[in-house]
Amino acid sequence: MSGQQQSRIFLSAPHMSGNERRYIDEAFETNWIAPLGPQLDAFEQEVAAYAGTKGAAAVSSGTAAIHLALQLLDVGKGDTVFCSSFTFIASANPISYCGAEPVFIDSEPATWNMSPEALGRALRDAAAAGQLPKAVIVVHLYGQIARMEEIHVLCSEYGVPIVEDAAESLGSTYKGKQSGGLGKLGIFSFNGNKIITTSGGGMLVSDDTALLAKARFLATQARDQAPHYQHSEMGFNYRMSNVLAGVGRAQLQVLDERVAARRAIFEEYALTLGNQPGVAFMPELLGTRSNRWLTALVLDAEEAGVTAQHLLAALEAANIEARPLWKPLHMQPLFKGTRFYEHAEGERAYCEQLFRSGLCLPSGSGMSGADQMRVIDCISDVFGNGVRSSAQTAS
Ligand SMILES: *Cc1c(COP(=O)(O)O)cnc(C)c1O
Repeated sequence: MSGQQQSRIFLSAPHMSGNERRYIDEAFETNWIAPLGPQLDAFEQEVAAYAGTKGAAAVSSGTAAIHLALQLLDVGKGDTVFCSSFTFIASANPISYCGAEPVFIDSEPATWNMSPEALGRALRDAAAAGQLPKAVIVVHLYGQIARMEEIHVLCSEYGVPIVEDAAESLGSTYKGKQSGGLGKLGIFSFNGNKIITTSGGGMLVSDDTALLAKARFLATQARDQAPHYQHSEMGFNYRMSNVLAGVGRAQLQVLDERVAARRAIFEEYALTLGNQPGVAFMPELLGTRSNRWLTALVLDAEEAGVTAQHLLAALEAANIEARPLWKPLHMQPLFKGTRFYEHAEGERAYCEQLFRSGLCLPSGSGMSGADQMRVIDCISDVFGNGVRSSAQTAS
């Protein structure tokens, strides 16, 4: 190999459509740089139409959207909220913002998302103890939708509202319905690495327009209807700016293309690497269509002769950004001692196994075919050389 460093391939780089400028210019021409404005209203309507919900409220981040969702469901001190363990920290931090306590739920094999079995046990225990959770936060990781039907049945049995963390699943469907619109409230993120981006931003969606009106009120410092500045409730400064909403509108127009591109990238990985012994890609549950935000796989180290850690090191050496799967939240030092329900009682948590053996591959919709070949070649080399190569990269 030559010593020359090849250009870096990123995990999921922002991918502009070219139309963003037009909307930004419009905002400038009308001098609508102030936070609220016509682009924001239009972006909300367009996202709601896409998600199939009655309304939407645009905010400054996906994390802010989750925080508002919990506020709207009256989550406070002394309450508990159930949440998927296998996710990014932002899914659960808002539980702590509210002074409530998370209870983490394991993943299951068919979706890698919330296990209905574990959720059922957790709800039964909570009901027996007389303290049902105020909400269940269900995450659709890497674009794969959770087993919503089973989760719905359980949550309605106990009367607990569902908040869908659809930050990674915008454009994914469950039996033809868009993610985000499957629970009481849903949230999206437009952070720089997500399938579409406003550089930073989020959205709360729901069929409950009264709740969304309350969300907009809370997101603008909870200002009472009065001629002077008057406040009876504690609010936040969480609204999205009109300029960034313009970027979002242009991005939303190409969302379906972005989903198609990410799915094609996944197909290529699956086609070229799927036959490697010990390699298994994240499954797609029958009746769901994942946006394949990130291509994720697990390695059976014995069968593959290579560990996920070795593969990550080899990719990094080739200047390719790959990442381990999310470290489960019940394993995070921040949440030490928090209650956790595993998928199969008495067995090792399923999401821990995923975490220890998996990784995400570069999946940006703007990645060229040649760049993806570089990733595939690098991985094939590692497999081809088996243990020797992995021993080398480990040293
Ligand atoms: C990105 C992400 C969030 C948070 O969104 P931000 O816009 O970055 O605040 C929440 N949950 C999951 C699963 C995410 O991937």
